[in-house]
Amino acid sequence: MKKYIISLDQGTTSCRSILFDRNKKIIHTEQKEFSQIMPENGWVEHDPLEILETQLFTLKKVIEKSGIKANEIESIGITNQRETTVLWDKSTGKPVYNAIVWQDNRTSEFCKTLIREGKEEIIKEKTGLVVDSYFSSTKIHWILNNVPECDKLLSNNNLLFGTIDCWLIWNLTGNHFTDLTNASRTQLLNIKEIKWDTELLSFFKVPIQVLPELKESADEFGNWEFNGVNIPILGVAGDQQAALFGQECYEVGMAKNTYGTGCFMLLNTGENSISSQNGLLTTIAWSINGKVNYALEGSVFIAGAAIQWLRDGLKIITHANETEQLANETRDEDVIFVPSFSGLGAPYWNMNVKGTIFGLSRNSGSKEICKAALESLALQTRDVLIAMEKDANLKLTTLAVDGGACENNFLMQFQADVLNCNVSRPSMIESTALGAALLAGYKNDFFTQNNEDNRDIFRPNPSHKINQKIKNWNKAIQTLLTHYDI
Ligand code: ADP
Repeated sequence: MKKYIISLDQGTTSCRSILFDRNKKIIHTEQKEFSQIMPENGWVEHDPLEILETQLFTLKKVIEKSGIKANEIESIGITNQRETTVLWDKSTGKPVYNAIVWQDNRTSEFCKTLIREGKEEIIKEKTGLVVDSYFSSTKIHWILNNVPECDKLLSNNNLLFGTIDCWLIWNLTGNHFTDLTNASRTQLLNIKEIKWDTELLSFFKVPIQVLPELKESADEFGNWEFNGVNIPILGVAGDQQAALFGQECYEVGMAKNTYGTGCFMLLNTGENSISSQNGLLTTIAWSINGKVNYALEGSVFIAGAAIQWLRDGLKIITHANETEQLANETRDEDVIFVPSFSGLGAPYWNMNVKGTIFGLSRNSGSKEICKAALESLALQTRDVLIAMEKDANLKLTTLAVDGGACENNFLMQFQADVLNCNVSRPSMIESTALGAALLAGYKNDFFTQNNEDNRDIFRPNPSHKINQKIKNWNKAIQTLLTHYDI
């Protein structure tokens, strides 16, 4: 009897391997960080071989430390940092260049050229994405243009491209496969026709031969051989999509928000791929049994990062979890902190805006700033949610939450208050890893259905004070948009 599923969670700063039992319970976790390479301002790279080595290290260690046998493992699920791009030599397995990470903006000039050439609309229509250096397409273009070795490899048909899921799958199984959620972030996939799009490939000058074969999110990706046992990889999804699945947001209109360094909100829109009129992205949430499920996505760049700034920049706290008590110790409602250190993302998309604190008085101190910082996570989330509700023409009644900062009760209650909807926090906040495990267990019905899900529900307390706060926040945003006009 197979007892376990292992989730590989390949993040931006670390690799983790998490062992789940049939009750979705975490039995053991192993985690290891890897290097961040920043050769120039705005450039962020990872060494793909180091990622592979780190991921395999945690995978083997989780098996060893938990004392299980290889033949007790049902399958493996993979979830990963999205968009990050690797090109490698098929004959040697050697990357031709470091992985260019999603945060890397070296291709922003090329993006501006594409916009000037009037390609933005058609790209958005086909991919659901805006033209931005965030996605894989321009990163592949950059490597093809800057690494001379690529030409020869291309002429021998020995060059392969993959996002990180694909890179891991190829190394673990020998198959050049990717799943549709990851493919939908390359900006080369037509998300309605579900195929690599020749017109998009011509915009970015990417030869189709380098692209992987498309698979569903719950699918057969091949076997990883360990100690003479073949362990199949049966589930793959990008991190934010995996979190949506892990939160079991299976119905249309269900949404989750992940509070990490940034905030990522995804709303399940079912078989309907809604094109956003309000600065959001359209993406593939998952694909199972031949059915593609879509989501709207909104991202806030600075969320938990604002709390990190209180710790590392202002040095007014030593640990993020101190903010909860500090915020509870003040009744001040005047301070508004907009932590737009690197511009404002959805739904404003103004990259010139800088971070600003409004409403200081002689009595303002660290408590007031901590409170305003926490409130800024919730108020930014509110702006994204309003855009989503407009695009999808619905009113959310419950928001599922996860990510490190969702442990903060002050933040969660304030979130419920400003959204005027319930906020639902699972007891197990590792939704991303669970999502990959659920996908890997999907086809064989691995997980038990009737496990109790103890969630904390934060219910809204509407008040004049909250309305006033929202008004002041909106005024602050408008002031900044005017002051930092593009
Ligand atoms: P990521 O996956 O982006 O690294 P995590 O989900 O691990 O992020 O969450 C860590 C982020 O959440 C950090 O930015 C940290 O400042 C913030 N954070 C963690 N705990 C708390 C807390 N109790 N209150 C507020 N912010 C927190």
